[in-house]
Amino acid sequence: MGGVHPDDSKFARESRIEVLGVPQKVFVSMSQHLGAPAKPVVAVGDFVKTGQLLAEPGGFISACIHSPVSGTVKSVAPRKDLAGNMAMHVEIEVLGDLWEDSIDLSTKLIKDIPEDREAILQKIKDGGVVGLGGATFPTHVKLNPPPGKTAECLIINGAECEPFLTSDYRMMLEHPQEIVVGAAIMQKVLHACPCVIAIEENKPEAIAAMQKAVADLAYPDIRVAVLRKRYPQGGEKQLIDAVMHRQIPSGGLPVDVGAVVQNIMTAFAVYEAVQKNKPLISNVLTVTGDGVPANMQHNYLFRIGVPFSYIIEQAGGVPENTAKIVSGGPMMGKAFANLEATTVKGSSAVLYLSAERTRRKAEGPCIRCGRCADACPMGLEPFLLNRLAKAGDTQELENAAVQDCIECGCCLYSCPAQIPLLDRIRPAKAQVLGIIKSRNVKK
Ligand code: SF4
Ligand code: SF4
Repeated sequence: MGGVHPDDSKFARESRIEVLGVPQKVFVSMSQHLGAPAKPVVAVGDFVKTGQLLAEPGGFISACIHSPVSGTVKSVAPRKDLAGNMAMHVEIEVLGDLWEDSIDLSTKLIKDIPEDREAILQKIKDGGVVGLGGATFPTHVKLNPPPGKTAECLIINGAECEPFLTSDYRMMLEHPQEIVVGAAIMQKVLHACPCVIAIEENKPEAIAAMQKAVADLAYPDIRVAVLRKRYPQGGEKQLIDAVMHRQIPSGGLPVDVGAVVQNIMTAFAVYEAVQKNKPLISNVLTVTGDGVPANMQHNYLFRIGVPFSYIIEQAGGVPENTAKIVSGGPMMGKAFANLEATTVKGSSAVLYLSAERTRRKAEGPCIRCGRCADACPMGLEPFLLNRLAKAGDTQELENAAVQDCIECGCCLYSCPAQIPLLDRIRPAKAQVLGIIKSRNVKK
């Protein structure tokens, strides 16, 4: 089974969701989903409204991108993302906040779900909805399994198992009904398969809020399941195992075992796209960290395209004793290479880590204790992957299934020899996936 039990550290759990303002300029990335970058449909000098289409999908696996603000397009040019890689961005100088007329900005809950399945899928596609649990896979593609595959269960992921992160938790407390309507919409698209909203046992208030919303709205065949607390319980494969007791074979997809997994925030985005005509231009992220005072812990509703430096400034600046700033959680997040990078649809956190937490002892020799293998939720042998990655043996890495690594960091967390296992396994996995992809293209 694997997994680890890191400290929860959910310090921002009591911070209600606050609406973050926007700076004078935003920079909207064209590469904020899995798949091909989106293609801009606006030009320098255009005036755009909030919610207006900025870019159309650049391929089958791609997504629309909409303007998060109203204003004038100042440039369409490459710019550094948070990892320091260049990506095309649309720069918009903000003028007021004029929304597209078709968007319903009222807070009134719309419970009745449209009848036409194809029309729903089109709205999800037109709304640029992508998976907000980390993968940012286009939702309309995931909700449309290929011929021969059938969804037998829709799992809504409310586990939020990464330490520190609290945005999904706050959404379940503050918007449970919208999430349930979003789940019911996806259930309808998947031909009325059963739906399970899966939440870890350490969130009793969220469990109660979601159970009440499920009971009040009374859509058929939706239930809340309470899961054991364990990292990475929110991984797709781990959730499917916990809820359906089915295991995805190596190289397989959730739908191969009849599962479709969507995140809490994705369900909310689906609700907004289908019921309110509101495209995905905002999300909720957590600003938190070690020893950060309560008044600097936030859950912000942010618009895409806002520089992280702006968020940090609005949240009160970088706290003392910060040694590292990470985008995302401590287990799977990545250190910022560039704080002028801007938020994307999948941004989940600005995390301040202290010197104590980031201090690593010198790497020692592997003592063959096997703890990394015990902790690996994918049944891999991280000590072996580490050795093969150091040797650059891609054939043996593939034989050892490095491509199945979900980059959860459990091996790194468990290793008493302080071996930077994930730092070596991650690039090795990318290399092997590249080899597999080019082999498949040649076939
Ligand atoms: S090898 Fe990959 S999947 Fe296994 S524990 Fe390490 S990071 Fe997680
Ligand atoms: S946990 Fe570290 S020391 Fe133990 S077997 Fe794995 S790599 Fe070696």
